[in-house]
Amino acid sequence: MMGSIILTYHYVRDNSNMKCITVNKFHNQIEMLSKQYKFVTLSELIKNPTNRPCCVFSFDDGLIDGFNNVLPILHKFGAKGTFFISTSVLLGKMLAAQKRHMLLSKLGPIKFTEEFNKKVSNKNKITSSENYQDYYHRDDVATANLKYHLDYCVGSEEALQKVFSKFFNEKKELQSLYLSENQIKIMLSKGMEIGSHGHTHQHLSRLSGSKLISEITKPQKILKDHFSIDIKTMSYPFGDYNSEVMACVKQCGLIAAVTVIPGNVQDSKSYFELCRVDCADLGVDNGG
Ligand SMILES: [Zn+2]
Repeated sequence: MMGSIILTYHYVRDNSNMKCITVNKFHNQIEMLSKQYKFVTLSELIKNPTNRPCCVFSFDDGLIDGFNNVLPILHKFGAKGTFFISTSVLLGKMLAAQKRHMLLSKLGPIKFTEEFNKKVSNKNKITSSENYQDYYHRDDVATANLKYHLDYCVGSEEALQKVFSKFFNEKKELQSLYLSENQIKIMLSKGMEIGSHGHTHQHLSRLSGSKLISEITKPQKILKDHFSIDIKTMSYPFGDYNSEVMACVKQCGLIAAVTVIPGNVQDSKSYFELCRVDCADLGVDNGG
């Protein structure tokens, strides 16, 4: 029998050179999926398992695309989505992930690398003798090397911030990128689920103790304070987790967490290691 699936989306928009799917493509995907699946939120999937194959639309990073482009289409098909938010955004801080995407989109990997190298010490500079494509299968060498340094090198977040400030106005971009409080309220009123994507979008496996606990509990508290909701689900930022992270997530009262391990729900080891299918890997075409 066909299994249930959880789909991963980030940007859903037109006329963008960031990695995204177009609004029309999203529409075609949901139209096709509606013939085979029941659409539910992630917590509904966990709380009310059924024999019928279900599909969860999940959206990482709390992007404004969710309100502008996704919500009207979900509404049209009577579907719901689960939107994972990094709550530091609600406190006015842009995530490193979007700074990276925007700089890559504006400068391209070569120029971005040049700018990055100006802001880091000699031993952290990106050199042309490296190749980290094994870590980032979908990327060209320059992009892979850049991502590796941004992900793993000490001081890269500060360097990224400096490069970002040179090319963008953070306050302005924040408003045009992420869901506002008011938009989240409207989405909740339409039955959408809000989940956690950590507080500041960290690699959680690299944290422990109070730092780890705070990344998991701050979103619970902030979302409760702002919207009077008890969040039940989480998406690990970067899909990064380990057994300590899972134990902490359980202990904090969440009922499920999604990864970026490809597969359907039945392939998952537990509700705290749920596999997902990236929207780009869904064989639906197309129309742009
Ligand atoms: Zn993310």
